[in-house]
Amino acid sequence: MPRPIQALIHSTALTHNLQRVRQARPDARLWAVVKANAYGHGIENVFPALRAADGFALLDLAEAQRIRQLGWRGPILLLEGVFEPRDLEICSRLNLTHAVHRDAQIDWLASHKTTAPHHVFLKMNAGMNRLGFTPERFRAAWARLNSLPQVGEIGLMMHFSDADGPRGIADQLATFQATTADLPGERTLCNSAASLDHPEAPSDWCRPGIVLYGASFDYPAHTSEDWGLRPAMTLQSQIIATQTLKPGDTVGYGSTFVAQHPMRIGVVACGYADGYPRIAPSGTPILVDGIRTGTVGRISMDMMVADITHIPAAQPGSSVTLWGQAPNGTLLSVDEVALAAHTVGYELMCALAPRVPVHVTD
Ligand SMILES: *Cc1c(COP(=O)(O)O)cnc(C)c1O
Repeated sequence: MPRPIQALIHSTALTHNLQRVRQARPDARLWAVVKANAYGHGIENVFPALRAADGFALLDLAEAQRIRQLGWRGPILLLEGVFEPRDLEICSRLNLTHAVHRDAQIDWLASHKTTAPHHVFLKMNAGMNRLGFTPERFRAAWARLNSLPQVGEIGLMMHFSDADGPRGIADQLATFQATTADLPGERTLCNSAASLDHPEAPSDWCRPGIVLYGASFDYPAHTSEDWGLRPAMTLQSQIIATQTLKPGDTVGYGSTFVAQHPMRIGVVACGYADGYPRIAPSGTPILVDGIRTGTVGRISMDMMVADITHIPAAQPGSSVTLWGQAPNGTLLSVDEVALAAHTVGYELMCALAPRVPVHVTD
């Protein structure tokens, strides 16, 4: 028998979450963001459910190729554009739409030989200060692109720095609007947070990522349930041993946990080499047989420990849910585990290790 850990990808949850964004943005087309191997879920695993999207957005040319191999003939957007001139040949061959965020990418287009003009999205840096032309330089870049025979449609793109937080989007949206008011082209502005929480931001194309996978973009302010989302990933394993502790007994490397009273603990076949965050402290929520309890002691490479003192039926073979949905239907949100580990659900899902077998289910 293989090690009992596995990840389940819930295709009905993906379908539901995509529908949830459609409901919020009935007039927009949706790029399903599947970068980072679909946020750790596996591009091939999410594709059947997400093919109801209008396009796929990602960064990696190899991932774009995988989507074409799955038979997708619709739009694919490279969110960071091309990295070197040769990539433009792959864009021509695979018919990829690509972001243009710096001058060199325009230079490369100007010397690219292509029969079909490229569909590009010119990206503005409206305050995030990662990718894009500043508002002062944006229109000149647009004019230059517009003069190239290699370029067909030019869409306009930006990315908000604070769509999920108290600062909000007003300033960056105003900057974008003021700079682009009279320019033609489709707009793509909204990630998950802007799509669901900022209906005032126009977006011909929205770019939802995290919400498709059923996590919240602003936990703990709002849970994924608050946003009407369903978790698309379950990470589950089993108890492979139990121990009983007397007061004063310790657990795991560094003896960071000391039992204060008699306890029963279950050793779980999951560790940081599976993608579970090592930094998660004792007390991080975990489900055993669908019953909520907490971790005990340090997370090690292949194992961790759960308190099963109040779950007397728990024994080797009992199910353990690290996040997602337990066999009895109880949910543990990845956001809650992430908060305990001082990170976000995004990081935990993306960090799912290659050694964990993944199965697609309902
Ligand atoms: C990752 C990414 C998104 C999706 O962000 P979510 O917060 O997951 O919805 C959208 N746009 C760009 C440019 C991105 O890099």
